[in-house]
Amino acid sequence: MLFKDIAILDENFDCQEHRWVGVLGDRIDYIGAQAPADTEKYGEVYDGEGRLLMPAMYNAHSHAPMTLLRGYAENLPLQAWLEQKCWPFEGKMTGEDNYWATLLAGAEMLRYGTVSFSDMYYHTPERARAVEELGMKANLCTSPIAFEPKPIQEYPVFDEMADAIENIDGMAGGRIKFEGCIHAEYTNNDVTAKSVFDWAKERNVPLHIHVSETKSEVEGCRERHGGKSPVQWLESLGALDVPLVAAHCVWVDDGDIEILAKHNATVAHNPASNMKLSSGFAPVAKMLDAGVNVALGTDGMASNNNHDMFQDMYLMAMLPKGNELDPTLVTPKQAITAATRAGALAQGREDCGLVKEGFKADLAVLDVTGVSWCPVNDMLTNVVYAGHGSDVVLTMCDGAVLYRDGAWPTIDVGRVKFEVAERTVRIQSELSQGE
Ligand SMILES: [Zn+2]
Repeated sequence: MLFKDIAILDENFDCQEHRWVGVLGDRIDYIGAQAPADTEKYGEVYDGEGRLLMPAMYNAHSHAPMTLLRGYAENLPLQAWLEQKCWPFEGKMTGEDNYWATLLAGAEMLRYGTVSFSDMYYHTPERARAVEELGMKANLCTSPIAFEPKPIQEYPVFDEMADAIENIDGMAGGRIKFEGCIHAEYTNNDVTAKSVFDWAKERNVPLHIHVSETKSEVEGCRERHGGKSPVQWLESLGALDVPLVAAHCVWVDDGDIEILAKHNATVAHNPASNMKLSSGFAPVAKMLDAGVNVALGTDGMASNNNHDMFQDMYLMAMLPKGNELDPTLVTPKQAITAATRAGALAQGREDCGLVKEGFKADLAVLDVTGVSWCPVNDMLTNVVYAGHGSDVVLTMCDGAVLYRDGAWPTIDVGRVKFEVAERTVRIQSELSQGE
């Protein structure tokens, strides 16, 4: 595809008007103020009038199959939300339920300009199948909850991990990767956690873990582990010796932030989820100042309840200003970096997340003719504060168009919605009958 005379957010997120962007295969082959010498080789010419081309988004923390639980568990504190609602519902979910729910989650992400997600859940083969069919990218992990102090190899979930590292990591031409994971400190123990971290280290794969999401989690951790915070506990067991995606980090102190920065960890910030579950406000400005790679996630659909990263990007830029009474905190550039480049880096995809020649063609095109886009004093500011996911008209992943003008070329979205709705009804009836 050749984008003709289109405004772009360049690799510094500065807006450049009237650019030509040529996509060849899975990469951005050409960016220039003039048409490339050979326009024919790019195929379709896309008229850029009234459009903005920006990097597609990378969702750094999701639980895609939880789309089945959208609107199911509301107005509850985290522990009750998890134990009374989410876990019993999830106990009824089959592999096929996970497959269909992941397809729906992916369709929603594509609708709003997201091409890749770091997904912590179960039923990895079914999730991988969905991602492959969607044409998206994902870093998948399966999240052990392990209270008995024995190595992960003695838990049934290890079979799935071993199989996934063999057969799923690197699938779909590298679009799908598999990572190590424990669900969280409070759902694990030293022995199992250490064995997972050693496993990740031996295979040189990243880890994805819920960290310091709530105040009570941190207090409990300090009691269980001789005063150590979750970040200190993870460091002591070697979890930071590999690239770590620490989801949430709401209740981290200066010492924790220093540790995360020192080890080049990524914090997956989930502002909508943290507010909805009343977990608090993560100190993102401090983390950014300390040099932590802050990426952005939606978390699961029981605690958000949508996959529109534009909303999380808006919240990331807004919340610290209000919470810390300082309007200079978190710039639009920092917020969009978190939604795009930082997420790509968190997934180990160095050549993704920017509109730059030679990079993978992971792109979102926005219709910027709507009333909320006028005037354009600064395009990036409009994107972060006035833009919506619904402004996206085209989403491209590795050069393939996966969403365009209300259509998803890779999946039958009507069937997907039907399956998800039916399966939700089935699970709810099983729960009400106490099966
Ligand atoms: Zn989560």
